[in-house]
Amino acid sequence: MNKTKYIFVTGGVMSSLGKGIAAASIGTLLECRGLTVTLQKLDPYINIDPGTMNPFEHGEVYVTDDGAETDLDLGHYQRFTNSLLSRKNNLTTGQVYNTVISKEREGEFLGKTVQVIPHITDEIKKNILALEEGNDVVIVEIGGTVGDIESLPFLEAVRQLRTDLGRENTLFVHLTYVPYIAAAGELKTKPTQHSVKDLLQIGIQPDILLCRTDRFLSDEIKKKIALFCNLRFEAVITAKDVDNIYEIPLVLFQEKLDQIIIESLKMWTRKPDISNWEKVVAKIGKIDDEVTIAVVGKYVAHKDAYKSLHEALEHGGLYNNSTVNIKYVDSEDIEEKGAREFLSNVDGVLVPGGFGSRGFEGKIQAVEFARVNKIPFFGICLGMQMAVIEFSRNVCDIKSANTSEIDNGIKDPVIHLMESQKNVNGLGGTMRLGAYPCKLKKGSLAYKAYDMNKISERHRHRFEFNNDYREKLESKGMVLCGVSPDNHLVEIVELKDHPWFLGCQFHPEFKSTPLKPHPLFREFVKSSLSHKNSASNN
Ligand code: GLN
Repeated sequence: MNKTKYIFVTGGVMSSLGKGIAAASIGTLLECRGLTVTLQKLDPYINIDPGTMNPFEHGEVYVTDDGAETDLDLGHYQRFTNSLLSRKNNLTTGQVYNTVISKEREGEFLGKTVQVIPHITDEIKKNILALEEGNDVVIVEIGGTVGDIESLPFLEAVRQLRTDLGRENTLFVHLTYVPYIAAAGELKTKPTQHSVKDLLQIGIQPDILLCRTDRFLSDEIKKKIALFCNLRFEAVITAKDVDNIYEIPLVLFQEKLDQIIIESLKMWTRKPDISNWEKVVAKIGKIDDEVTIAVVGKYVAHKDAYKSLHEALEHGGLYNNSTVNIKYVDSEDIEEKGAREFLSNVDGVLVPGGFGSRGFEGKIQAVEFARVNKIPFFGICLGMQMAVIEFSRNVCDIKSANTSEIDNGIKDPVIHLMESQKNVNGLGGTMRLGAYPCKLKKGSLAYKAYDMNKISERHRHRFEFNNDYREKLESKGMVLCGVSPDNHLVEIVELKDHPWFLGCQFHPEFKSTPLKPHPLFREFVKSSLSHKNSASNN
């Protein structure tokens, strides 16, 4: 039995080089050698979690089974590995300070001056080491770019861990950038040299460099980088740009990254078996169909806001041998110009999750367009709530139907705040969060997709279907086909007399992976393809 090993992944030169995916891909490669891995993200901001941040600012908030609102990198970890993620897998500066300051108030440090070193760094180390149990390797991604003031305590903590745990139990992987300068016709290594210097200044010598670049690095360039950055030649790895992120583990495998890692950490593993990922990538290469799906939301200008959704649609497409062209539509534009303008040429309509009333009416118009024109429709969280409002207004003739998210005093709150939410204090971490069970009705679209009668999915919302309207909506043809085991909460709605119309109160996109596309995305894309084909036959 190996002792748990720690890999620390840092980033240099600039942000957006793909540190999260690089860390996740290391996880993929180690799992292919039969190792059990987990990943942790250290985020240098003062918020306790990203739950209250604007998606324009931070991108998607990813949710774990145990109800943590986390960084979107955890979504990558989930899609690339089998690691079981929980709130332990995302640590922020805010959480660290919060704990240390609470301890200080309780008198735990009595007589001492509380300082960044050792109190903050000890708290960080404790949280990293808390992931040891059951894992052969813990991969820790340090947010931000080396040189930022904010991430210094995290870097100091992992620097100390090398001494605490020993050289053979820790590994520093640094992601840098090697740009090709067209005017000079050359790849430039200087930014990488500087970035490593910055790391050395804080006492960290990287063991492996992942060099993000648009072409394979020649041996000559690798030798130069190795020489200037005090590394073995083999430890300079090309992290070449790819067309599809799921190729990254294969590119790194080709560069023998996994072998260098296990050699450096003195680990014994079985031979790597990367065939599952090779199959996925081969399948991507053979796709010969395409389908266009409109995603009608508010955060459409910032693609990271719908990261998991985007990936889940791609997985659904992959299963159906089709590219999914996502047409992002701003629901406020629909309010201005009407749904037809934007949705008449699409094969499926998806209304994703969201908060705040801006653009609500445009989303409701999008649902109506999909319902009336029999275009496959998928509503997620807020999207399901919009579908319930649309149906209430236009089919059940409840003209003033709305959600109390708009205003507490509305006449027909078909979506309302559930009892437990009425006494909530503060907005951070207080929604219905995390995994909840749901019972499915036999014969429904959901039941057919999952092929199970009890499922578990993750939630992140405050408002719920109002049970006072159940009977009325059911009598007009809305099928409440997914409910909580005690029958109190409506979790999935569907429509009869429609090829595929489904709204769910949870976020299925968080659980989709390329190896296991989520059943609802699989079926939604499938029905969108049939819609496309039937339209072209008419
Ligand atoms: N704003 C809605 C609610 O809080 C929907 C949330 C979401 O879509 N994630 O219930």
